Amino acid sequence: MSPQRALVTGGAGFLGSHLCDALFGEGWSVVVVDNLLTGRRANLDHLRNDSRFDFIEKDICEPFDVGHVDYVFHFASPASPVDYTIHGIPTLKVGSLGTFHALEVALKYGARYLVSSTSECYGDPLEHPQKETYWGNVNSIGPRSVYDEAKRFTEAVTMAYHRYHKVDTRIVRIFNTYGPRMQLNDGRVVPNFMKQALRGEDLTVYGDGSQTRSFCYVSDEIDGFMRLARSSEHLPVNIGNPNEFTILECAQHVLQVTGSKSKIAYEPLPQDDPKQRRPDITKARQLLGWEPKIDLETGLRMSLDYFRKAVAEEAANAR
Ligand code: UDP
Repeated sequence: MSPQRALVTGGAGFLGSHLCDALFGEGWSVVVVDNLLTGRRANLDHLRNDSRFDFIEKDICEPFDVGHVDYVFHFASPASPVDYTIHGIPTLKVGSLGTFHALEVALKYGARYLVSSTSECYGDPLEHPQKETYWGNVNSIGPRSVYDEAKRFTEAVTMAYHRYHKVDTRIVRIFNTYGPRMQLNDGRVVPNFMKQALRGEDLTVYGDGSQTRSFCYVSDEIDGFMRLARSSEHLPVNIGNPNEFTILECAQHVLQVTGSKSKIAYEPLPQDDPKQRRPDITKARQLLGWEPKIDLETGLRMSLDYFRKAVAEEAANAR
């Protein structure tokens, strides 16, 4: 895959901005299109003065054209349960209309295409761990459906453009990823616990904390994306860390890494919160030779500086 010009929708978000860095590192020119609904310009500040970088503030729910591109990375969407609950209708629109528009760009320029999908396609899974062949257990009318069904539809549109228009597509199913540039207030469990621990507040565990998640450090996740981008696999591939933790164990890791004396406070479990989640990554191992390298404790340590600074900045701004 020789580096040329890539479009990254949602490139100002947590994962999108790390993806831009990886593409830059390989010599690509990158144009980001983002409406900054949940993304932040600050995530791309370090690229701003580079002649290989362009930023266009735009909502991709309207048709758009950025000129010739060789690769489309379609990453635009709110992704945390708090964000997609607040922005339910924009989440449905970007997964549907936005996906059509991103695919139209790929079709027009004969560009390759990779889209971010999610473990939420498996819903509250009855198969464990989740293989790509599992069709999922999603409540189509529940509070999470705005994200889950949007992403399932995203996958359907992507496969249709592949089948009917021969677009060279890829689909990555992302499992809980964490690391620097996550927004402090996006509501996901790692930023919530890190922020609470660093402020000396109680860590809010929802339910009894026995539900599980499998946490992947951002650099491992991005390595998986880049390998998939170079492959010619059209069917979905799980990229996530298969080491599974209860949420209570996650809280304990955060307390240990931060050295915080915070206590645990139990709060109600949100509706339809999946009880367990763990990727089966056999396909990624065999197809891409991909394997996550960073365990949860190491990844939390690698994220600590970022969260410390973010908490300090927020405190300074509040003054
Ligand atoms: N969670 C929690 N406390 C928090 C935030 C989240 O106990 O402050 C739980 C949440 O109920 C879920 C898990 O942590 O079981 C992961 O939540 P997150 O919002 O990070 O992402 P999800 O995997 O649910 O999309």
